[in-house]
Amino acid sequence: MDFAEQVKSSVDIVKTIGEYVRLKRNGSSPRYVGLCPFHSEKTPSFSVHAGHQFYKCFGCGAGGDVFKFLMEIERISFFEALKLLAERNGIAMPKREYSDPDSKLRGALMEMHEIAARTFQVNLNGPIGSEARNYLIARNVSAEQAAEFGLGLSDGSGQQLVRQFESRFSPEQLDHSGLIMKRQEGSGYFDRFRGRLMFPIHNESGKVIGFGGRALRPGDEPKYLNSPETPLYRKSYVLYNLHRAKDAIRKSDYSVLVEGYMDVIGVYSAGVRNVVASCGTALTNTQVRALKRHAERIVVNFDPDAAGANAAERSIQMLLDESFQIRVLELDRELDPDEYVKAAGAEAYRAKLESAPAYFHWLADRARKKFDMHAVEGRIQGFKFVAPAIQRISDRLERFAVANDVAHYLGVDEKLVREQFSKTSVPRAAPAPQPAASLSERLLLKALIASEEARLQAIPHLRGIAALDRYATKNILKALFSMQEDDVPFRFSDLEGRLPEADRDLLSALVFADDKIGEETAVQVALDCLRKLRAVEPQQEVAALRAQIKAAEKAGNLQEAMRLTQEFVRKSSAGSTSR
Ligand SMILES: [Zn+2]
Repeated sequence: MDFAEQVKSSVDIVKTIGEYVRLKRNGSSPRYVGLCPFHSEKTPSFSVHAGHQFYKCFGCGAGGDVFKFLMEIERISFFEALKLLAERNGIAMPKREYSDPDSKLRGALMEMHEIAARTFQVNLNGPIGSEARNYLIARNVSAEQAAEFGLGLSDGSGQQLVRQFESRFSPEQLDHSGLIMKRQEGSGYFDRFRGRLMFPIHNESGKVIGFGGRALRPGDEPKYLNSPETPLYRKSYVLYNLHRAKDAIRKSDYSVLVEGYMDVIGVYSAGVRNVVASCGTALTNTQVRALKRHAERIVVNFDPDAAGANAAERSIQMLLDESFQIRVLELDRELDPDEYVKAAGAEAYRAKLESAPAYFHWLADRARKKFDMHAVEGRIQGFKFVAPAIQRISDRLERFAVANDVAHYLGVDEKLVREQFSKTSVPRAAPAPQPAASLSERLLLKALIASEEARLQAIPHLRGIAALDRYATKNILKALFSMQEDDVPFRFSDLEGRLPEADRDLLSALVFADDKIGEETAVQVALDCLRKLRAVEPQQEVAALRAQIKAAEKAGNLQEAMRLTQEFVRKSSAGSTSR
């Protein structure tokens, strides 16, 4: 067994995928389902098969084994996925150099970020860190919290990382790091971050992939300097603190969205562990989906200033598009979350969080302040102010319910609501496609996959079936034949690997169909199906002939039509006597 096989056989795909997607077991079957992390959907079409250790989305077609999943969700190479799985499961990697240049570069960048994070932390805790430590004390961040979040300090020399990197990494790796920069004039490099409080940014599996650096002295611009986009760090994909928060998000079934690093640290230290930040910008669609994998409810708590309100507005639209249940937390006294926790205490913040109103009520409250609610006209204006947001709810029933609720809240006639909302309807996600194979074919294939004995007994008969080429499952069956010829032990991934895309989809559909076949019954099922398939064979041939005759007549080939008709007569009489 090669190393990848060894890793694969010692991990459970359900557990691995379960760290990214909330999966529910489908009764007692080996099928687990959840919302697809690779496309936007409301009804789960993403399935994971515990027995065969693979996943398939019937909505967007994504599918494969545990490596493929990690490669796609973490956007990493095969080698990195292998390494990640091995590490997580305490399996030692063989000491062998892999030649994939992409992985090599990313591996080097990971190492540079680890070195940088360590260096920054040492700085913060050493003699040059006193000013930064004072800043943290003033912001109420304890030494423990600083350590937990891996906070650090970049020194002022601009040469600290350069000195460590230059001898160890290639110029190409240095250029891609985002941590050091080439001098405009002359030669050599200097550190990007100088004299800043450093916040490491992690990917979902907890590796440092970038930094945010806050200026410590007034007048240092910009206030926040972030890592540029690198092969590791893509801003629109990353949520600050998600790797720490995701367990708490699942447990509480909601996330708290704030704006900045300090807000996360403040709120997290107040005991609210399910907090993440978008880092100063409005959410992207990718970030929203990353959150949705863990919970579909969210409390948005942005800064009270205009920029914060704008970011909140755009983020909320993005969240509505993905059908999140949103609540809005507005803190009084114009405080941002971090300041509020400091001023009013952790308990007060948590109480505020608990009582945060649903987004549409919050919006309706804003409408109430904006328009004259004593006049009918004002109430209608108020409702129209909220209506565009309601319009964005994709589920029709929910849209109506919210609209009625808001209308009631604002004292608006329900008729207006019906007028506003009766026209639009939004298409729903398509259900998983039914495999175009007969029940007998389906059961036969399942039995063959389930049992060695069934394969041994049924395949020799199957090979003799003349009509095999008409079967929807013919390619899959032939792949099974060739596996038997090759005398390799049956492995589901092997079977999959021998198939073109369309047949892989068919195989997934068949495997996830809810027919239960145990190993005990498999032989019997296989032989029964075989018998039934043979019994309908003459009928099928007759049907095929009929179609050929029609085609020949249509094409004006009467001679051929005649010949086929004779054959048809012969076959259909034979078919009726053989039954
Ligand atoms: Zn999908």
